[in-house]
Amino acid sequence: MPEQPELTIQGWGPGGSRAATATAPEDVPEGQPEPARDPDPAAALPKAARRHLARELGWEPRATPPVAVGEIRLAPSRLPAEARDALAALLGEEHVRTDREARLRRAGGKSYLDLLRRREGDASDAPDAVVLPGSTEETAALLGLCAELGVVVVPFGGGTSVVGGLSGMDPDDRPSLAVDLSRMASLTSVDVASSLVTVGPGMRGPVFEEVLGARGLTFGHLPQSWEYATLGGYAATRSAGQSSTGVGRFDELVAGLTLATPSGVLELGHPPASAAGPDLLGLALGSEGALGVITELRLRVRPAPQTRVYEGWSFRTWADGLAGLQRLARHDLLPDVVRLSDPEETRANLLNAGGTGARLLRGSLRARGRADGCLLVVGWEGLPHVVRARRRAAVPVLREHRAARVGRRVGESWRAHRFAAPYLRDRLMDAGLLVETLETAATWTALPAVYDAVRTALRNALGRPGRQPLLMTHVSHGYATGASLYVTVLADRDDDLPLQQWLGAKRAATEALLAAGGTLTHHHAVGADHRPWLAREVGPLGVEVLRAVKQRLDPQGVCNPGVLLPD
Ligand SMILES: Cc1cc2nc3c(=O)[nH]c(=O)nc-3n(C[C@H](O)[C@H](O)[C@H](O)COP(=O)(O)OP(=O)(O)OC[C@H]3O[C@@H](n4cnc5c(N)ncnc54)[C@H](O)[C@@H]3O)c2cc1C
Repeated sequence: MPEQPELTIQGWGPGGSRAATATAPEDVPEGQPEPARDPDPAAALPKAARRHLARELGWEPRATPPVAVGEIRLAPSRLPAEARDALAALLGEEHVRTDREARLRRAGGKSYLDLLRRREGDASDAPDAVVLPGSTEETAALLGLCAELGVVVVPFGGGTSVVGGLSGMDPDDRPSLAVDLSRMASLTSVDVASSLVTVGPGMRGPVFEEVLGARGLTFGHLPQSWEYATLGGYAATRSAGQSSTGVGRFDELVAGLTLATPSGVLELGHPPASAAGPDLLGLALGSEGALGVITELRLRVRPAPQTRVYEGWSFRTWADGLAGLQRLARHDLLPDVVRLSDPEETRANLLNAGGTGARLLRGSLRARGRADGCLLVVGWEGLPHVVRARRRAAVPVLREHRAARVGRRVGESWRAHRFAAPYLRDRLMDAGLLVETLETAATWTALPAVYDAVRTALRNALGRPGRQPLLMTHVSHGYATGASLYVTVLADRDDDLPLQQWLGAKRAATEALLAAGGTLTHHHAVGADHRPWLAREVGPLGVEVLRAVKQRLDPQGVCNPGVLLPD
């Protein structure tokens, strides 16, 4: 098939730009570029996509705009004047902020529930103040002071949590601080021979890649929130990026880190490897601010790739696609980027794709009897001869599973628009839609059952006569033992009870995926939203072990008490 002109494959996903402007950090740290905004806020979805959504969802587009930022309700700060003075004495007056704008911009994260609340004018989760420490020493002193004062601390990186990680909930209802890490965002050492760099937690991906690129290096961690999220946030949530199949998840790229806690500072990790007892570094990764603040990271980097090959393939069925990926994984042949869309997501992505190339691609897939197939985007990066050899070894396996090549333009288009999809979310929410995502992972053996279970649960929870949700699913991370599943849910919003509508669906989907053998979360973390189920993942004794660690490091329970551990 010839390469296609003008093709825009982007998909659908979480996020939100306009609705989130009230909560996005305004002060892009000095030296860090402004993230891309909504590429074209006025543009509507392509007609074909609108028709598809209306037909599938029984949805009638209607105007449901968010309240104006000025109308968002914010309670007065509860931080006592003496506490504010003590914080200012420690950090400097200009690094303690209680103004409306600073507090609103650190209110909550970017989950559908966060955005719904904000759109309705509710900022009850806003911190009472925002503080900006500048070093490990200051952060450690800050935590000690907050433990004394009885003030809750919630580390704030990029504010992109989608699991309620920044809700600041506290059973004792104490005043809370957002600890903004944007002042701690520099690269402090580069050891090229050891492929190691030391960097502050507040640095964002684009700047990190820029400073590494100048030295011929790359990090390669590219989650869809890359423009906003920070390195500290990735570590605290055990994030996975779009190239994690090849370069590894974030937690695999951390060689060491510094964790400031109310009880002292921990230096964890000893590259290249150590057998000195259990790995305490693993306790800090995924700790979501509940044990303290990550103030420095030692990360594994690699040479910048000399070549990149991205391309699209089409499988006839989802089962063929899963079998093909499983086979590649088994023989260690998975590409660096692997993104297999199920038929529902493939159809929606092709309808949402722009340009004449998209029309040609749809026509070509129809002509080849693959209109209901599954699109696979794959990408290899590295030294040219290595990329060539890896691709040459993988292609016959794809073909054995009846995959047909649909060209580089599809892969390149996906790569070019890889961060664009979340910006669609505002427009969809403005028009009366529920838009949310959920994710899990399972072994290759359990994956089909988990896929079916989640879809059935969501259909039962969100379906009504004549109205079915759209459930677009893809595999985005492959392992020898299994793969992740990522579901984007679109449904006609219940305008009377929107929070309850999603809470019910999320509960049903979580129960279903756990029962079928999926993990509670593959890369979004536990946050506030998943903590009721943590014992199902690690067992009651596992929860007690985590509690004991928290009790030792944070005896007053001031470190992000609303996340991770169940009530
Ligand atoms: C549009 C969109 C796309 C996304 N795509 C992906 C994706 O592809 N892959 C993925 O893994 N996730 C994704 N996410 C989720 C989110 O981006 C990640 O969880 C990310 O790691 C959070 O980073 P952050 O800097 O924004 O952290 P925040 O949202 O600011 O914080 C997240 C949690 O970590 C804690 N925390 C933050 N910094 C520190 C620190 N220095 N020390 C201790 N605790 C800290 C916070 O208190 C909070 O509990 C996406 C989110 C959005 C909105």
